[in-house]
Amino acid sequence: MSFTIAIDGPAAAGKGTISKAIAAHFGFAHLDTGLLYRAVGRHTLQGLDPVEAAHALTAEELDQGDLRTAEIAQAASKVAVIPEVRAALVDFQRAFSRRAGGAVLDGRDIGTVICPNADVKLFVTASAEVRAERRFLELEEKGADVTRGQVLADVRERDARDSERSTAPMKPADDAALLDTSELSINAALAKAIEIIEQVQHTAR
Ligand code: C5P
Repeated sequence: MSFTIAIDGPAAAGKGTISKAIAAHFGFAHLDTGLLYRAVGRHTLQGLDPVEAAHALTAEELDQGDLRTAEIAQAASKVAVIPEVRAALVDFQRAFSRRAGGAVLDGRDIGTVICPNADVKLFVTASAEVRAERRFLELEEKGADVTRGQVLADVRERDARDSERSTAPMKPADDAALLDTSELSINAALAKAIEIIEQVQHTAR
């Protein structure tokens, strides 16, 4: 039986950590859909055409090298505005969402476009300042040479591009539960998310 959880929200809101932990808690498969756009973005940095790169993308590439760099994040949000790139990635995401045993997908348009019929939809957010601080600490730990100001500017630039694009802009689905993690620890946010999912599972029984 399939059970789909759609988790959307802006960069560094805690979506990735929460999604992974939810998948582990319920024994579901997890797809970080940002990696698809990052892998296409990486190809464009190497000079490839984004639409061709999206059509040729393989699942194996998502595990190759570090896709979570600031440079690839910007490249990802640039290719993500191209409708043909988004269209090329739809089937893979939908097939993943229908896996037997349950699936968690996180991204920007999962609840609105990829899985409008998901069993549970969450929109995980936090203020730009809080998200930039979290991302700064992550990057600093990896030894990246960045300032807080640069990271905040990057977060704001990506938010604007992601929410203002005409195809599949980032926004909460009408039936999504909002989870603001500005003043919540990730553990507290996770506990809330699990509560919401268990309520749905309970009423579906
Ligand atoms: O989530 P992550 O920061 O890895 O995503 C990188 C970029 O990929 C985002 O800024 C966004 O432009 C794009 N993206 C998207 N739709 C998704 C997931 C990511 O447009 N479902």
